[in-house]
Amino acid sequence: MSGTNQSAPLRTIDPQDEAILLNTIDRWIEKDVRPVVMEHDHADKWPAELVAQMQEMGLFGATISQEYGGLGLPATTYVKIVSRIASYWMALTGIFNSHLMLAAAVERFGTPEQKALWLPKFATGEIRGGLALTEPNAGTDLQAIRTTAVRDGDDYVINGTKTWISNGIHGNCFALLVKTDPKAEPRYKGMSLFIAPKHDGFTVGKKIKKLGYNAIDSAELVFENYRLPAANLIGGVEGLGFQQATGGLELGRINVASRGVGLAEGALRLATEYATMRETMGKPICEHQAIQLKIGEMVTRARAARLLTMDAAEAYDRGQRCDMEAGMAKYFASEAAVRNSEEAMRIFGGYGYSKEYEIERYYRDSLLMCIGEGTNEMQRIIISKQWVKRHAA
Ligand SMILES: Cc1cc2nc3c(=O)[nH]c(=O)nc-3n(C[C@H](O)[C@H](O)[C@H](O)COP(=O)(O)OP(=O)(O)OC[C@H]3O[C@@H](n4cnc5c(N)ncnc54)[C@H](O)[C@@H]3O)c2cc1C
Repeated sequence: MSGTNQSAPLRTIDPQDEAILLNTIDRWIEKDVRPVVMEHDHADKWPAELVAQMQEMGLFGATISQEYGGLGLPATTYVKIVSRIASYWMALTGIFNSHLMLAAAVERFGTPEQKALWLPKFATGEIRGGLALTEPNAGTDLQAIRTTAVRDGDDYVINGTKTWISNGIHGNCFALLVKTDPKAEPRYKGMSLFIAPKHDGFTVGKKIKKLGYNAIDSAELVFENYRLPAANLIGGVEGLGFQQATGGLELGRINVASRGVGLAEGALRLATEYATMRETMGKPICEHQAIQLKIGEMVTRARAARLLTMDAAEAYDRGQRCDMEAGMAKYFASEAAVRNSEEAMRIFGGYGYSKEYEIERYYRDSLLMCIGEGTNEMQRIIISKQWVKRHAA
């Protein structure tokens, strides 16, 4: 059933190099991340020190090719890194994931000049940012955006508002989706994507207060007569922005799936620790059948989410179209994250509802995974369409 063609060459990394990298991540999580998660999450505080450490480890260049100074990691290794970090603190992964989506748009669709100019700075994290697609009136229906870019000599003049943009405050450059021809039909033909650094005319509006996914900034971005040179139009040709913005979504969905895997596994870990320690009626609660049923389902869900995500990542590493595989992974892993977090909260009893324990954060954070990179309603529609297309009589 999988679209994975086992005969296509698989992009890989030396297993020893991967083990060293994952070991470094594990030690970093233990020493630097775990002690500060609750403080940052509760105060919604930007983790400046951790960001500097992620920069040092090269995470801002994780999937950027080595020729541009990145680590050039295959998606399978990327899944392992993201899920490991997310199993302790999901929000942290959003800081480099969103940035890598910007980099992926430039690396896949940029001109040679754009790649040479921007990718080395993205890879070191000297310039960091994300994707600016969503607007107050247009999320799922991206073709309804109203931000316009009007050609003026060698420049474009941009006006409009973006919302919900991750890294909006602390980032300094974004892939900005606009309409260069608002009257085009079909609508996607009038859309273009720009590399948009912060300068005059580009201001940050309000910081959005959220249920979870704290510490990473989600903000409104406002563009008022914001000028960009035509050299910042990705690919150098108008009208390709919609494909460019959505063309990176396979990797985007694999990375949201990896976060879901991390949350599902993290919730399972916390629930297991608690269930073996907490006693009622003279025995640990993990020996009561009601709790065993929950843990049995949680283990299975977490495992299935990981396998689906690795399956999608392998297809991606073979250079195959994998929107269905990535969609299934994103859909299943994000729902697994929500279900496992909720079940873990129940296993914690009253303490699951307390801010003194970590499990409530998993529940708050997991719900976002059902929305980002295409809502789960849309994922199921995409999966169904691809399935029918691949199996049409
Ligand atoms: C914390 C957070 C971070 C984000 N970060 C970014 C970012 O960095 N950059 C960025 O550009 N955006 C970002 N977003 C925005 C996110 O991508 C959108 O919220 C998402 O695409 C959904 O769009 P919407 O909120 O406008 O909902 P709508 O599109 O208004 O959807 C509302 C509901 O209708 C359903 N629906 C809509 N259309 C259909 C349809 N055709 N068929 C069936 N169901 C449908 C949806 O599934 C959903 O349930 C972020 C959002 C959040 C919450």
